Amino acid sequence: MELQELNVVVIGAGVGGLTAGALLARKGAMVTVLEAQNYPGGCAATFYRKGYRFDAGATIGCGFHDGGPMNILGKELGITWPVWPDMVAWQYRHHDLHLDLSPRRSEILERFPRSASFWAEQSELAKLLWHLAEGGLSWPVKGVRDLARLARKGISGLSGTAHLLTFARKSAFEWLASHGLDNDPDFVRFIDAQLLISVQTTSPYANAINAAIALDLPVSGAFRVKGGLGTVSEMLAESIVKSGGAVLYGKQVIRIDSVRRQVFGLETSDGSAIAADVVLANLTPASLELLTEENRELQPQSESAEWSAFTLYLGMEPALFNAWPTRHVQIIGSTGELAEGGSIFVSASPPDEQERAPERLCAVTISTHALPEQWFEAKKKGEDAYKKLKSAYTEKVLNVFSEQFPGARDAIRSITAATPVTWERYTGRFQGCVGGYPQTSLFKVRGPLTRFDNLFLVGDSIFPGQSLPGVVTGARRTIELLLQRNEKVGRQQE
Ligand SMILES: Cc1cc2nc3c(=O)[nH]c(=O)nc-3n(C[C@H](O)[C@H](O)[C@H](O)COP(=O)(O)OP(=O)(O)OC[C@H]3O[C@@H](n4cnc5c(N)ncnc54)[C@H](O)[C@@H]3O)c2cc1C
Repeated sequence: MELQELNVVVIGAGVGGLTAGALLARKGAMVTVLEAQNYPGGCAATFYRKGYRFDAGATIGCGFHDGGPMNILGKELGITWPVWPDMVAWQYRHHDLHLDLSPRRSEILERFPRSASFWAEQSELAKLLWHLAEGGLSWPVKGVRDLARLARKGISGLSGTAHLLTFARKSAFEWLASHGLDNDPDFVRFIDAQLLISVQTTSPYANAINAAIALDLPVSGAFRVKGGLGTVSEMLAESIVKSGGAVLYGKQVIRIDSVRRQVFGLETSDGSAIAADVVLANLTPASLELLTEENRELQPQSESAEWSAFTLYLGMEPALFNAWPTRHVQIIGSTGELAEGGSIFVSASPPDEQERAPERLCAVTISTHALPEQWFEAKKKGEDAYKKLKSAYTEKVLNVFSEQFPGARDAIRSITAATPVTWERYTGRFQGCVGGYPQTSLFKVRGPLTRFDNLFLVGDSIFPGQSLPGVVTGARRTIELLLQRNEKVGRQQE
């Protein structure tokens, strides 16, 4: 079928769904995005509440550097992102260890001089990987065409491919050990804290290659996005409309209709029925199953080991943040625990964005990794048990914040908490699993294909996983496979 005749429906206006929708609309496809909420962005949205504009989850703009996935996407869609590089991506704090994560890594090297050879190798690996990723990654491999493409890339420019492959089966911890760094608990904790917020797991489990690219983030640059991270999704949604597509809000898809291996339409909670030639699901595989299974009571189990989040949205006096070298601080509490409120990531809206908060205050987002089970159990037990857990977590998070910034509590003017239950309701992701998949292996990753010929996944559940550049890269793979399928169907019909 000609792309111009292809009726593509995207379920969900997260960055992944919007990117795929915008690129396809630009190529001429008829694109309709159905979004359950009244605004786009999902985990990377910025929402209004009581005069504040809070980042929901994501706060750091990455991939906007020259040649980065967001930079290339902007050029392709004719979007000029309102972004500025931050000299310091974020600050890491544990007890009296304070490190600014900057492109030159000077503070890290000064504090951990033995790590110099590790960082040199990390830079070399990251350079190779960025090169490999240029123009999209045909991974996981699906067929001869992908193999040929990978081989071509390897032969044409990657003299270090063999070197790269030795890391593919290593854990990040083994890699640290190869530099004699495994016996430095402060360094391992620092690396683990960086990996947990990026590849969603710590060094013993994280794949070394995934770790190398994740640890490159402060070098390739963290960017501030005017108006908050949600601006990115708002601009992507505008791009779809400009290309003749539609983004419809308040449209929750409750059912996908299919015959054998073909999807033909969707139903929304307001009673609409929408026909589709191709469906892109910006959902986790478990949430997708709930829309396609005959037995919709079935509770999927597959994602129980994945992280959800506990987040606080605070209206605060800005004075505390004005002395910081950056608007983002990662704090590890005195216990050294890395999740469940033991470590937190704090981001404050910039002082020159008064429109993000009333009365010269600022909008602050704090997040911590949380496993979902206990939250859903508490919810089942009743409102009291749930509220008690919520208060306990709020206290724990504020205690960790106050350990490093003793005046923090006094500066708070308003407070809202979101739990894994909230995240499930808000993003439609089963059990509020918002972190993407833990990046433990390059060989067990999921690609966009599903058991339906014309239904594809997009978003951080597919390779290469979470973050804005991650889901943009994944969306390109979704489009690549969609176009291949469409071509094949076209040939069969001739
Ligand atoms: C706390 C936190 C902090 C993070 N920090 C960063 C960061 O600093 N930098 C960074 O780059 N990344 C960060 N990330 C990761 C990043 O936000 C995500 O990887 C990315 O935004 C996920 O995008 P997605 O396309 O998978 O879709 P999602 O964000 O999951 O969006 C899916 C959309 O689909 C909609 N939807 C779901 N079900 C339905 C349905 N049935 N019908 C209609 N619509 C539906 C949802 O409402 C939602 O809008 C963070 C994530 C979290 C949770």
